[in-house]
Amino acid sequence: DIKEQMGSRVQMYDPKLSEKLARRLLIHAELAKAVQHWPFTLYYQPIISLKNRQAIGMECLIRWFHPTLGAIPPSEFIPLAEETGLIAPIGMWVLEEACLQNKRWQDAGLSPIVMSVNLSSRQFYDPSFLEALNAILQRTGLAPQWLELEITEGVMMDIRTTLPILRELRARGIQLAIDDFGTGYSSLKYLKELPVDKLKIDRSFIQHIEENVVHAAIVQALLTMSAQLELHVVAEGVERDEELDALMRMGCEYAQGFLFSRPVAAEEASELL
Ligand code: C2E
Ligand code: MG
Ligand code: MG
Ligand code: MG
Repeated sequence: DIKEQMGSRVQMYDPKLSEKLARRLLIHAELAKAVQHWPFTLYYQPIISLKNRQAIGMECLIRWFHPTLGAIPPSEFIPLAEETGLIAPIGMWVLEEACLQNKRWQDAGLSPIVMSVNLSSRQFYDPSFLEALNAILQRTGLAPQWLELEITEGVMMDIRTTLPILRELRARGIQLAIDDFGTGYSSLKYLKELPVDKLKIDRSFIQHIEENVVHAAIVQALLTMSAQLELHVVAEGVERDEELDALMRMGCEYAQGFLFSRPVAAEEASELL
């Protein structure tokens, strides 16, 4: 609980720390107010096929533009939303908005793409999640194969809880991706058993891959392993031409990053498509 943390930590009188906690408390309070007037919006970032440079998907990323605090990044408020339980309504809104947007693009006659939505563990463990997701697909009319859920390794690997849900989602035709791969504790043994379609290799392994031989070796090994397991691979956070060249030489299939496009608002994303 944030108040307990405040109580135990301010005693240290570390100005940096109390600054951080003050900011956290502020965001916490603003978040509680935010759900009343719903200031959130979705941005979209393309996922590119390196074979033909076409977008095969879009990842939706939540944005919160605050009138006085400016843009509050998801890394700052999603963890708080998880702590307070607000992630449930926020997460459901994200899913519905993302499905609706993808349906709009399809109805406008654009070539169909997969919409990737980030999921928090809390949403995943909610017993009403599957039913709510079904209702969203019904309401929006989006066919399930055009929806992908991104889940981090940590959540995936809690195999006893997750496997039945993952199987259910897969049976429904929804695609599944492991996000930020390489940063958590992945068991390669379980990877074979998980019904997932994609691995998204974390940006930390992609940065300076053309000169960092250790990262290059790791990515090469992940590509080989993924081919064996029939998993698609997305390289996250590609920013430079040199990184792209190295990934193409290694035979990486998909990439995402500022080099291709930053996350953009729906209208701009429509133009990209
Ligand atoms: P993520 O799912 O790994 O998303 C990728 C993050 O990397 C995004 O940050 C994106 O803007 C950023 N990014 C993309 N390409 C590049 C690049 O070339 N260079 C750099 N430096 N960064 C790049 P963002 O939008 O700030 O989101 C951060 C994290 O917040 C996401 O990481 C995801 O875990 C979480 N998140 C975002 N939207 C949602 C949401 O709707 N629901 C949930 N549960 N989590 C979300
Ligand atoms: Mg993601
Ligand atoms: Mg990621
Ligand atoms: Mg990442």
